[in-house]
Amino acid sequence: MSNVSFRVLSLIPPMTQLNTPYPSTAYITGFLRSRQVDAVQADIALGLVLALFSTEGLDAIAAEIESQEAVTERVALFMEQFARYKSTITPTLRFLQGKDSTLAHRINLRNFLPEGPRFEGLDVYVDEDGGDPLAWAFGALGSQDKARHLATLYLNDLADVVRDAIDPRFEFVRYAESLAGSQPTFDPLSDALAQPFTLVDRLLVDLSLQTFKQHQPQVVLLSVPFPGAVYAALRIAQAVKAHYPGTPIVLGGGYVNTELRELSDPRLFDYVDFVTLDAGERPLLALLEHLQGKRGQSRLVRTFIRNAQGQVQYINLAEADVPFSEVGTPTWDGLPLNSYLSLLDMLNPMHRLWSDGRWNKLTVAHGCYWKKCSFCDVSLDYISRYEGTTATELVNRIESIVAETGQTGFHFVDEAAPPKALKALAAELQERNVSISWWGNIRFEKSI
Ligand code: SF4
Repeated sequence: MSNVSFRVLSLIPPMTQLNTPYPSTAYITGFLRSRQVDAVQADIALGLVLALFSTEGLDAIAAEIESQEAVTERVALFMEQFARYKSTITPTLRFLQGKDSTLAHRINLRNFLPEGPRFEGLDVYVDEDGGDPLAWAFGALGSQDKARHLATLYLNDLADVVRDAIDPRFEFVRYAESLAGSQPTFDPLSDALAQPFTLVDRLLVDLSLQTFKQHQPQVVLLSVPFPGAVYAALRIAQAVKAHYPGTPIVLGGGYVNTELRELSDPRLFDYVDFVTLDAGERPLLALLEHLQGKRGQSRLVRTFIRNAQGQVQYINLAEADVPFSEVGTPTWDGLPLNSYLSLLDMLNPMHRLWSDGRWNKLTVAHGCYWKKCSFCDVSLDYISRYEGTTATELVNRIESIVAETGQTGFHFVDEAAPPKALKALAAELQERNVSISWWGNIRFEKSI
C-alpha cells in the first residue's frame, strides 16, 4: 500500500512514564513506515510535564494560586519558596535529562533545591554520627544517583502542589485514573470532559494543537496503555474534533484491549471515530484502506464504530494478523530522546530500572509462551497468540534500534519473556559480538 500523502500521527497521551518513551507509538510508526505509510509520532505526556515544570509553567501555577482564597500547607510553602523553585526548575530538569551532570554536586549540598514535605522521608535515615543519611544507599561516590533522587523528591513536591492547587487528578505516572479504571459507565469521564479547563488541560490542549499543526495529519491515533491515560486522550480528541473536525481519530492500546471489549456506550464516539482491539497492525491497515476509499466499512477488522443508527457496532472481517516476523522494527524517530527525565524515585535497585534510564523497549515474541496461569485472561490476543521470530531477525532489530537511538540498554516488554528465545537471542548476540544490557519479566521456572 502506498500512502505517501496520507499522514498518520500517533500520540502518547499523558500520563505514562517519563524516563523513556512508552513503546506503542514507536512500534506502530515503525510498522506503518515498513508499509510505506507516512507515519509520525509525538509524546504529549513528556511535553505536558516539560511545559508545566518550566519557568513559564511555574509562573502560571503561582498566578492561579494567588487567585485562590485558601491553600494547603504545602502550597503555602511552595509560594514562600517560589523564587527558588523558579530559579532551579530549568537547571534541575536539564540535570535529570542528563544534560548537566556537574549540577549533582550543588544538589547534594542540600542548599540548592528548596525542600518541601517530600524530603521529610529522608529523616528516617538519620545518621546518628551526623554523617550523610543517604550514605547507605549511594555510598561516598554515588553522587549522580543521590542528586537524581533529591531532584526527584523536588519534582514530587511540585507535583503535589499541582494536585493540591490546580488539578486534583494530576500525578506523574497517571492522570485522572479513577475516572476510567473499572468504571461501569461512561458518566464520570463524560462529566469530567464537560468541565471547564484546568491549567493542566489548557497546556495539554495547546500542546496537542501545536503538534497537530506541525504534522498536519490525515488520521490521529491515540494509544492508551492504562486507565491513567484515558482522560487526557479524550481531552486531546476533543480538541482535535473542535479545531479539525474532519480528521478521523482512532483509539487503541492496552487499556482498550482489556477494558473496552464489551464497548456499548455510543458517547465515546463523540470524541473518537474508531476503536480498534488487540494488535493494531491489521486493523489499522484495513482502516487506512477504508479511509482512502479502497475498502468498505463492512470490511474493517476488529473495529468498533458508531453506525448510522447511533449504535455501537463491532466489525471484524476475519483476516490474518500480521505475523510477528513482519511487524517491522520500532522507530523512535520524532521523539525527543534527549529530553526524557531519568527519575530515581524508590531506593530499590530493581524498581529503579522502571523510572531511570532511557531503555529501548522491544518484545522478544508476541504473546505469552506459558498461558496457563489461572488468574490470567489467556483468551486475550496479546497473551494467547504466541508467535516468535528468529534470533537473527531480533538482533537485526536490536542493531537498527541502537544505530537510531544511540542507546544500548533494552527492556524486553514481553508479559513473560520466553526462555528458549532468550537463549537463542543471547547466543546470536555473542556470535555477532553485539554488546547490550537487557532486562525483562520472566516466569521463574525450571527452564530459566
Ligand atoms: S505468564 Fe503472565 S501472561 Fe503468561 S499466562 Fe501467566 S500471567 Fe498470563
